[in-house]
Amino acid sequence: MIDIGDNMSTGKKRKRKVKIKKKNFAIFILFIIFFTFGIVEIIFCVTKVLTVPKAEPKQEEKRKEIKPKTKQKEKEETPNNTDEKTKKLEKLENINQKLSYFNEDYIDRYIDYKEKNPSYQIEQIIKNVNMHLDQEHYENTEKATHLNTEKVLVNKHYYLEKDYVPDNLKTLSTQYAISNMKLVDVAKEAFEEMSKTAKKQKLNIIAMSTYRSYTYQIDLYNRYVKADGKEKADTYSGRPGHSEHQTGLAVDVYNEKETYTNFEKTKEFNWMEKHAHEYGFILRFPKDKEEETGYHYESWHYRYVGKEIATYIKDNNISLEEYYATKIKDW
Ligand SMILES: [Zn+2]
Repeated sequence: MIDIGDNMSTGKKRKRKVKIKKKNFAIFILFIIFFTFGIVEIIFCVTKVLTVPKAEPKQEEKRKEIKPKTKQKEKEETPNNTDEKTKKLEKLENINQKLSYFNEDYIDRYIDYKEKNPSYQIEQIIKNVNMHLDQEHYENTEKATHLNTEKVLVNKHYYLEKDYVPDNLKTLSTQYAISNMKLVDVAKEAFEEMSKTAKKQKLNIIAMSTYRSYTYQIDLYNRYVKADGKEKADTYSGRPGHSEHQTGLAVDVYNEKETYTNFEKTKEFNWMEKHAHEYGFILRFPKDKEEETGYHYESWHYRYVGKEIATYIKDNNISLEEYYATKIKDW
């Protein structure tokens, strides 16, 4: 029994041993599992610790790198520009207090023009932009103002409508003009008086081209374009609606002996240089004002503006464009 008992106890012992072995094995396996997972976890954590903190500064560095660039860009594109613009506006506004012809609507154009012409004084900038010298000829054209007055300005910027015919057109006496020449009455009277006075000194000032209608100008301009090409024709002929002759206040003269293009060489021209303003006429396209008027010098083309304006223009050696931009146009 004992044996059996002994046998039994050894059997139990074996079983226990087996159980222990199994238990140990299980613990071992669990240990291995936990150990493996632990290692993985540790590696994961360590990697995290090692990588994340390194990565974050990198991102920050990146941000830092970007930030200054953005700031710099912003400075270039917006705040700095705005600052500069504000400064320029302040500068221009100071001038505004002094200049009656400062036009707030043109502020951007003044600034652009100043940037392109840094050596110009602000007064010059404002004047030139008012004369539209910052634009191409025939660009953004406007309807002429002060119609039927001696103040009307027609050039490569200001135009007259197709159907515009000045009031009070009168035919000139053939004593002082070729046949069928018409001017607005005040200009006709003034021209005839001037020509009459000159005649007393044996000078012959004859009107050879005066009022021209819109349709007449179409034919004339097209003829010139055909002969010389558009670019050249634009230097001496107004496009329809842009010819001063449509105002009835412009007159081309000659002395009957020389062709009108040689008028500069005549005694009549010398006399007109001294006296035309006394009758309200100005040499409309002088030599040194080509940029302002948009036309080459024409010794034969005169414009009636009245004695007062003519005298001012002559005394100050300015063009009608300049006078209009600073004295007439209500900005
Ligand atoms: Zn003319």
